[in-house]
Order: sequence, then structure tokens, then C-alpha cells
Amino acid sequence: MSALVQAHAIRKSFRHTEALRGVSLEVAPGEALAITGPSGSGKSTLLLCLAGILRPEAGEVYYDGTPLGGLGDTERTRLRRREMGVVLQFGQLVPELTVVQNVALPLLLDKHERPSAHRAALAWLERLGGLELADASPAELSGGQAQRVAVARALVAGPRVIFADEPTGALDTVAGEQVLGQLLEAVRGTGAALVLVTHDNRVAARADREVAVLDGVIAGTGVLS
Ligand code: ADP
Repeated sequence: MSALVQAHAIRKSFRHTEALRGVSLEVAPGEALAITGPSGSGKSTLLLCLAGILRPEAGEVYYDGTPLGGLGDTERTRLRRREMGVVLQFGQLVPELTVVQNVALPLLLDKHERPSAHRAALAWLERLGGLELADASPAELSGGQAQRVAVARALVAGPRVIFADEPTGALDTVAGEQVLGQLLEAVRGTGAALVLVTHDNRVAARADREVAVLDGVIAGTGVLS
């Protein structure tokens, strides 16, 4: 099967740090891929390059065969909004908006009508067991609840791939397990691919495949069962 996301020999530096030193990898449609490695190995930088948020200095990232480097900022933003969902470590919800408004945001930014965006957001909250949180403010949520809302927001636009950077890293074991279970169930239910950055082997073990990064290069890869 052809790759949904493909990195070809990408390099990325920050001042004197070479965060990525020639990384190639492919994400197949619908697969859950874990990117693992110790802190500072380049995992987040790789994720941000795959999601088209950071531009690599050399090499190329392809989304469904399209080189992201060839797209202007507006086109890349539109592509990300329509095709990709992102979940970061702390939810990153907009504090001034309610939960349901946060979940609806990707659709509103993509110029959907407010009522249909609102309905879609409520449907995702319900699916993830968070309907009662709809009118709450992000400040009222526990860490696990905030991540559940972030998962709903990442899925609301029907993305083909979700990029998650340590989505359970700030949660206790029980809440982390719940959020991870919901994320995996949601991507498997929708057929979306998942690229999951984690330094936690138990989290990585829930993915279909693992790629280990060390000092900015791929140090190993394996199929998980
Ligand atoms: P990981 O996600 O595995 O912890 P990162 O991709 O965050 O690794 O970082 C890889 C290397 O790049 C580290 O040495 C880090 O300090 C450096 N780095 C990452 N982002 C930045 C940045 N915005 N500015 C400067 N250095 C950075």
C-alpha cells in the first residue's frame, strides 16, 4: 500500500543542535505508529515535520504523494486543518472558549456553519464519554478530561491522520490508560492513521509498529503484535 505520510531523508537543526540528521519513514493509511526514544532524541521535531508544522532544511515530507515543501503556508494550513488532527501533552485548549466550542474550532476555522460544527462537536464528545463537559470551561477540567476534549477536537474534522505528542505524558497511569484507549479506539473506528510520540514503552506497545529515534536518526524499527 502506498504511504499516507512519508519522510525522505529529512534534516532539521536548531542553531547548533542537529535535531534530525537524515530521517526516512513511512506511515501507512490506518496504521498506528509509535515513535519512541529518550528525551532529546528528536521525536517531537520529527512529529512536527511530519505534520507540516516545521519545515525540514533538507529532504522532503510527502502527504498522500504531495511534497509539503512545495505548498505555500495557506495551502499547508488548509491541508492540516482538513486532513490532520493534533494532540499535544497538555490539551492546549483555548481557555476563553467552552469545551464544545474548543472541539468545534477546527470546523469553524474551516468555515463550516456554526450549528453543524456544534452538532459534530457534541457527537464526538458523546462518543468519547464527555458530553457532560460540553459547557464547561477548560479551567474546570482534570488533565484526563482536557486530553479527552483534545482527542475530540483532533477527530472532529474527520482527519486521515492524527499526530499525538506524549498525549498521556502529563497524566497518571489510570487517566493515561483511558485517554490512550480512547485515542486508539477512535482512530481504529474511523480508519485514521496515528503517529504517536512517546518515551513510554507500555504506550508504544499499544501501537501496530514502532520506530525508535536516537540522536536524530532512526535507531530501529519493529512490528508490534
Ligand atoms: P524529543 O521529542 O525526543 O525530546 P526534540 O525533538 O524535542 O526531542 O529535541 C531534539 C533536540 O533538538 C534537542 O537537543 C532539543 O534541545 C533541540 N530542540 C528542539 N526544539 C528546539 C527549539 N525550538 N529550539 C532549540 N532547540 C530545540
